[in-house]
Parts: sequence; structure tokens; C-alpha cells
Amino acid sequence: MDAEEFRKAAYESIDKIVDYYKNLGENNTISSVEPGYLKALLPEQMPNEGESWDAVKADLDRAVIPGLTNWQSPNFFAFFPANSSYPAMLGEMFSTAFTGAAFSWICSPVVTEMETIVLDWLAKAIGLPESFLSRGTGGGVIQGSASEAAIVAVVAARERYIQESKVSGQEESDLRGKLVAICSDNTHSSTEKAAKIAGVHLHKVPTDPKDNYRLRGAPLRKAFQDLKAQGLVPFFVCASIGTTTICGFDAIDEVGSVCKETDSLIWLHIDAAYGGAALICEEYKDLLKGIEYADSFDMNMHKWMLVNFDCSCMFVQQRTNLTDHLTLTPSYLRNDATDSGLVIDYKDWQLPLGRRFRSLKMWMTMRMYGVEGFKNHIRRSVKQAELFNSLISSNAQFRIVTEPRLALVCFQVFSKSGEDITKTVADTLNAGKKYFVTYAVTSDGKGILRVVTGSPQTQDEHVKSLYNAILELI
Ligand code: PLP
Repeated sequence: MDAEEFRKAAYESIDKIVDYYKNLGENNTISSVEPGYLKALLPEQMPNEGESWDAVKADLDRAVIPGLTNWQSPNFFAFFPANSSYPAMLGEMFSTAFTGAAFSWICSPVVTEMETIVLDWLAKAIGLPESFLSRGTGGGVIQGSASEAAIVAVVAARERYIQESKVSGQEESDLRGKLVAICSDNTHSSTEKAAKIAGVHLHKVPTDPKDNYRLRGAPLRKAFQDLKAQGLVPFFVCASIGTTTICGFDAIDEVGSVCKETDSLIWLHIDAAYGGAALICEEYKDLLKGIEYADSFDMNMHKWMLVNFDCSCMFVQQRTNLTDHLTLTPSYLRNDATDSGLVIDYKDWQLPLGRRFRSLKMWMTMRMYGVEGFKNHIRRSVKQAELFNSLISSNAQFRIVTEPRLALVCFQVFSKSGEDITKTVADTLNAGKKYFVTYAVTSDGKGILRVVTGSPQTQDEHVKSLYNAILELI
């Protein structure tokens, strides 16, 4: 493909993308293909001679689009959203064009400097304390996902704990086998995975359904005591702003204060992968109460904040907590800028070496929506969740399990004779392919249907028609 062929194909592709978005509501949300469908449509080997763009383009319609589950559909109410926007797509396009492996400042100064600036913008907009900003001791970094952020936090916490304990004379080899990361029975599985990868124990503190499934200070204190009595060493705690199953909000102030009174070296990580987006609105700033205790905080722009996957924003109060433990600089990575100490090399804040120019899509989206644009998007989604909630509240066959939180409604469905048909309804609705919802089980064993609004494509009429589609099944 030469430059002129690229120009023509790229224009055509933009038309195709715009049409795809315009028609999202007309098409099914869930793909209808059977497992392995693609093998029947594509050859077993790559072509020997290169093919034309027209041939490839034809296969987009024939082979690719049928296999898509349309996350941007107005009828997508499953999991949590994975928003996109046109400004973010433009950012992705330029990022791809300017591609490189910008692991250090010298590799492309703008990749590093843009990231520092837009993360400071975000920290200020969502109300993180001054100490999380780059002009102080902290700063932000874009990770590929909240799961990656959790791994970075656990590994840095583990190394910090071990290094500091060595100073007080503890044996490293003895300590390594005793370290325990702690979360609640509602925390996203990424913390458990991070503990697995980091080779540390994991302990889940039970939450009380009657207390909205929140991680509280008292049970955490008891967990610390029990674990210590078993000879184990707690070093990491994850608290959440918006857990996955029911969007629970942990009591960060209590959790932080119990961590501090127990051992000042315990690392507190806040998983706000979903809920973090709402913090841009004044009415949700209270969810940050106790944030000053946190060593790290992570939220996904790629969930509910209009930036295409991937874009997970991690902030720390002490950047040296990452760089002291993740920095390795062999001779081939040394350069004057790094040696000067005047620049950030984000390779020392993350798992991989190379990194993408993700801040470009963030910058373009922030420029073109502005704080008010984000607020409108979040509030609109919340209103739609409230609309759905008001519809089910008026019908005795629905039982709300948790009050609606942000844009998530969790409920059960009963037949006219009183039988719990929640799972059947979720399965039958999804089998129709038009709507996508999630069935989940709470930590106390209740099967629930989760409906999450959040797609910019979703209008009130889609929410009402989802409700009507459910009514037809009961
Ligand atoms: N934390 C929470 C609360 C989540 O809901 C999710 C995903 O839904 C994650 C972490 C993992 O997110 P990611 O896909 O960015 O790793």
C-alpha cells in the first residue's frame, strides 16, 4: 500500500466507521456467530502474495463485523461500559501513526510530557489531593488496565515492605513467604490475580450485605489480628470505589486509618476502575473521603469516561515508591536526559518496557469534552439508570437488591407465582442478541441481574424498551 492508496483507504474507512456507529441501534448487540466460526471463513495460511485493500475490506463485512459484540450499541447494558468517542478515535489514529516504544523521555519527549500533564488535569478534575500531582512528590501514569495497575501496586508494595523491613533487621527470605495482600469478598478478581502473579498470599475480608457489601474498618482490624496470629504479614490492602458485582463503596477512611494504626508500611491501593469517572461530578466527591491514606489510586478512562480502551490512570502519592522498586537501567537504556534526573521515564512506573502514546487520545477527548462535557455524560447515564430503576420499582415482580449506585441497577426477577427467574430472564434476554445484560451472584449467594447504562449512544427510549423486553419474558 503506498501513500495515495492509504489516503483513499483511510477516507473510506472513516466513512465505514461513521456508518457503523450510526447503525449500531439497528443491529444486534451480541454476536450470533458460533465458536470457531472464523476458521471456516479465513484460509489456513497467510497469503503468499499481498492482496488488494478491496479484498481485505470485503472481508471486514464478511468475516470481522459478524464476530463483533457491539459494546458501543445503545442496547449494551452488560458488565461495565467500555466507552468510545470520536475525539479518542482521532487520538488513537495519530498515536498509531506516530508509533514508537516510548519507554523513556528521550524516546519521544511529548509522549512523556503529555502524559504527565493530562494526568495532572485528571487528578485535579476528580479531586485527588495535591500530593497525587506531579508538582509534588506524586504523579500519574497510564497503565493498560486496572489489572496491570493492581499488579504494579502489589509488586511495588511487596518490594517496599521487604526493603524497609530489612532495615529493621528482618530476614528477607523468611518474610517473602509470609506476605499477605488483603481485599474484600467483593473486590474485583484483578487483586487476586495480582497476588498470584506477585507470589504472595491473598486474604478476603467478608463484607456484610446489610451494610451494602462495604469493606469496613472493624473486620479489617480483625483480619490483621488473625493473620498476624498465624505468623503472616499483611503488606497490601485494596479498597474499592465501585466494586464490580454491585458497585459497592468501601469505607476508605476507616480502612486507611486501620492500616495506618496496624503498620505504616501497609500499602493502600484504591480500585476506582469504574467509580472513578463519577468523581468528576461534585455530588460524588464524598466517595474520596480518606483518600489521603492511599498510596495508589487507579481509575479507567476506558470504562465510563469516553476514551477508547486502553487507558487506565494510576496515581501515587510518592512516585519513588514505584521508581525505587521498578527501575532497571542497563547500559543500552542510559542517556543524558535520564542521568540528569530532570525527566520522567515511565518505564520505571509500569510492567512493560515499551509504551504507547495513550495520552494523545486522553488529551483530545479532554480538550473536546471539557469538564462539563464529562459531567453531562456521567449524569445522563445516572439518570438513565434511575429511569430504569423507577420502571422496575413500580412492578412487584422485581426486587431491587442494592439501591442503584452510579449507573448500575441490581435486581431479581420473580414469576407471577413467586419463583426466582432472574437467571432464566437474563439468559433468555441475551439469547435474543438485541440486548446484553449481565447475570452475577453476590458474595452472599443471591443471583442478580445487573443493568448498567453508560453508552453515549443510549437514549431513554432504549432503557424503556429494555424494560419492556424484560416484561415480555415474565
Ligand atoms: N476493578 C474493577 C472494580 C472492575 O470492575 C474491573 C473490570 O470491570 C477491573 C478492576 C479490571 O479492569 P481492567 O479490564 O481495566 O483490568
